[in-house]
Amino acid sequence: RPLLLEARDLVRIYRSRRGLTGAVTEVRAVDEVSLKLRAGETLGIVGESGSGKSTLGRMLLGLDPAQGGTVLFEGMPLPRFGTPIWRRLRSRMQMVWQDPLSALDRRLTVAAQIREPLDIHRIGTPEERPARTASLMTAVGLRADQGGRYPHELSGGQRQRVVIARALATNPALLVCDEPVSALDVSIQAQVVNLLRDLQGQKGLGMVFISHDLKVVRNLADRVAVMYLGRIVEEGPAEQIFAEPRHPYTQALVSSIPVPGRPLDARILLQGEPPNPAARPPGCAFHPRCPLAQGLCRTRVPALRVPEPGRAVACHVTAGAQSPVAA
Ligand code: SF4
Ligand code: MG
Repeated sequence: RPLLLEARDLVRIYRSRRGLTGAVTEVRAVDEVSLKLRAGETLGIVGESGSGKSTLGRMLLGLDPAQGGTVLFEGMPLPRFGTPIWRRLRSRMQMVWQDPLSALDRRLTVAAQIREPLDIHRIGTPEERPARTASLMTAVGLRADQGGRYPHELSGGQRQRVVIARALATNPALLVCDEPVSALDVSIQAQVVNLLRDLQGQKGLGMVFISHDLKVVRNLADRVAVMYLGRIVEEGPAEQIFAEPRHPYTQALVSSIPVPGRPLDARILLQGEPPNPAARPPGCAFHPRCPLAQGLCRTRVPALRVPEPGRAVACHVTAGAQSPVAA
């Protein structure tokens, strides 16, 4: 399958002035991140809040500028944000955010919002657009008679379905979903995840699915990348990440997913503070919480290494002595 999206060494630094002295603090929100997504593939990006995953998601669409590195979409560097060529490309790359209410216009009916991208991008003839709108509604599991409703008249799950229908209206090749179910009731999260998975399969979408919750990506990701304080610490095929995680952080995340039959004390409890991007520990940023940390971990940042084809691990201890990831 052809490469759809490629990120090379992306860096995003936020600078802010603090306190009376106005000292400038630098936060490396995204630090030398590289990844690849093939057409029709789903990549799950997992990490705690502050890991840089949302910033990375926006950078993949050109919504947040990179200080370093490049994003290639279908082999071409992303055009600059807001330019006409970027706007045209946006119909091929869509995003679904966490909060559907803020993504929707309160004054427009459901049908009007789903139709809007068809009008903007002149998809089909004006006469065809009502039928296209109706079929998008059906595709996301909304009833035709809900087209006249307004966002506040719908449940959270229904609103997210409207957002998804809108995102799919332009027939994108890429869908980036940032925590698309974390604002929804737990009881309907699985329905929306399953809907995204089904649509991804039917339409052959490339999908980047960002979540703080590893178990949410389990049911839909082909590959998983785990982020910690702006860097990818482990990446690989989803089934391998879950079956034999290598990085100590991934091991802790996987161990906290409840599995019938596995004793609760098999859980690896992380000590120490949750990650703070403004106070990144030196060396391996995970070392203050890592049960396997050694002297080297406190001084040297571990490079991403390839213990076997298709896997990458950034750990001095568990990655082994294999070659660094090829540039
Ligand atoms: Fe733990 Fe060291 Fe590996 Fe970092 S490099 S994850 S501190 S063992
Ligand atoms: Mg986020």
